[in-house]
Amino acid sequence: MASLTGTGTAAPATSADHIYRQPTAAASYVLPSPAMSEEADRRPRQQRLLPVPIIPVVLFLVAPFALFLFTSPDLQLPRIRIEYGRTPSAERTSPPPVPGADDSDEETRLPPPRQLTDPPYSLGTTAVSGYDARRAKWLRDNPRFPAFVAPGRPRVLVVTGSSPRRCGNADGDHLLLRAFKNKADYCRAHGFDIFYSNAVLDAELSGFWTKLPILRALMLAHPETELLWWADSDAVFTDMLFEPPWDRYAAHNLVVPGWDDKVYVARSWLGINAGSFIIRNCQWSLDLLDAWARMGPRGPVRYEYGKVLGEALSDRPSYEADDQSALVYLLVTQRGRWGGRTFLEGSYSLHGYWVDIVDRYEEMRRSRTPGAGGERWPLVTHFVGCKPCGGRYASYDAARCRRGMERALNFADDQILRLYGFEHESLNTTAVRRVRNETGGPLDAEDAEIGRLLHPTFRAGSRRRFT
Ligand code: UDP
Ligand code: MN
Repeated sequence: MASLTGTGTAAPATSADHIYRQPTAAASYVLPSPAMSEEADRRPRQQRLLPVPIIPVVLFLVAPFALFLFTSPDLQLPRIRIEYGRTPSAERTSPPPVPGADDSDEETRLPPPRQLTDPPYSLGTTAVSGYDARRAKWLRDNPRFPAFVAPGRPRVLVVTGSSPRRCGNADGDHLLLRAFKNKADYCRAHGFDIFYSNAVLDAELSGFWTKLPILRALMLAHPETELLWWADSDAVFTDMLFEPPWDRYAAHNLVVPGWDDKVYVARSWLGINAGSFIIRNCQWSLDLLDAWARMGPRGPVRYEYGKVLGEALSDRPSYEADDQSALVYLLVTQRGRWGGRTFLEGSYSLHGYWVDIVDRYEEMRRSRTPGAGGERWPLVTHFVGCKPCGGRYASYDAARCRRGMERALNFADDQILRLYGFEHESLNTTAVRRVRNETGGPLDAEDAEIGRLLHPTFRAGSRRRFT
């Protein structure tokens, strides 16, 4: 197994831990003083003087309660109860709610946010250590689920998701569906697994921070998965043929679209993009997720880290901490810990900025071929700042975003539909037309390379790389 182990040590406290104040005396653990332990010594002696039946009687009374306490599932895990608006379906016909209108309502249902005086946040209920050895053993014990499906072909799980709430408008929900269909198509063509989450697994890591607990939970539950590929809901695969060059990442645990100089020299929060990245299933990654998530708890912690990020990075205003800036922060302030295993990928569009792409699709089809990588035919068109599902922080005109998404989705869909002899009438419409007569021989497709998208198992089982 070519899994990378990194250092295999537990995550050290991040250098940003200073935002958490020292715990108050009440919250800290007090070592027993000599006087206290003397008193503790004395107690058993006094107990021996008590009339004998009292102990069994007390045990008899306390045992059922203790049994309930330790077996109740609610008490074994921190209790999180988030309930989102249960609107009857009839409401669909009423005017759409104002985008983001129920955000504040959602806030009031959440438990109180972590304070700066509370202990630093950590991801999950228990810190995981020795994971690489345990995963390696699991893989040895389960040879039917190898982490590499063929030499040089890791088992990949694409992970995406969106908020549990309905979108602010029905069109937003439809766009989410189409963006998911696009990812399902890409995964099917390449033999990847896919997971869609629309649950907030940790009430502290709301919004875009949600991807961190999801990735962690999936890593631990899927030891057979070698690489997890996070793709935002607003990221669209626009080259159905291209597949990342896995060999290039053999010595890395994290692959993020970005540029070394923009991160390490310019310290720019735009030096990477956290909307599409690939992370290896290993201890190093669990440690990274933990260090990363510490900056995310909603409330004062997220605000304070926003200031820390604003000071440390060159071009970031001081608003609440976001996951992308937090990752840049870890890379620049702890490069020795995280930089070595992080591959900043700029040679193809693991994430592509939609504004520069959406008007070029027709030209691409005329003069380029898919599958080559590079910016000429972007692998991913990411609708950064568009908030197609509604929300308070959209940075672009909604109609412009909407048109761009329509074009990207149709452009990608054409690459799939052509396998079946159809394509969209134009990139601006959902209407399709037939472009080929059925011959009864799909394997005769003129373009053999594209034809392979029909049969991903040929691809998965092959020793050849089709990139
Ligand atoms: N997201 C999620 N659950 C939520 C909120 C957001 O899974 O409750 C995901 C969703 O996939 C979304 C991503 O977080 O695409 C990041 O947000 P967004 O794409 O709006 O940020 P941008 O790319 O515009 O910076
Ligand atoms: Mn996004």
